[in-house]
Amino acid sequence: MDCLFCKIIDREIPADIVYEDDEVLAFNDINPQAPTHMLIVPKRHIATLNDIEEDGDLALVGRLQYTAARLAEREGFAEDGYRVVMNCNDQGGQTVYHIHMHLMGGRRFTWPAG
Ligand code: AMP
Repeated sequence: MDCLFCKIIDREIPADIVYEDDEVLAFNDINPQAPTHMLIVPKRHIATLNDIEEDGDLALVGRLQYTAARLAEREGFAEDGYRVVMNCNDQGGQTVYHIHMHLMGGRRFTWPAG
């Protein structure tokens, strides 16, 4: 499958990996939008948020959020606050079609998002 994040998961393409377990990989974003900007991805390929299935995927998606919170603690900005983002499809700003949670911290974020 021609998927950038699957290739990172399979170590075919290098990345700055910050966390790994059986189900999830996290690595630093190559184009950071905050002092800390990580991507948390499921190891199983799911193309978009629309493809999440009730049978089997719900715990995995919860694990992405749980991992984000643990990494925010590890980075030291859990109490100050941080931003998590998941983009879906073209108008949502998705450019890599393997679901991923952006974890950004270390600065103040504005709302609404652009
Ligand atoms: P999205 O636009 O929500 O699909 O986010 C994709 C993210 O992947 C962007 O923030 C990119 O900077 C990031 N990205 C693209 N290629 C790489 C790579 N090789 N290693 C790390 N991050 C990447």
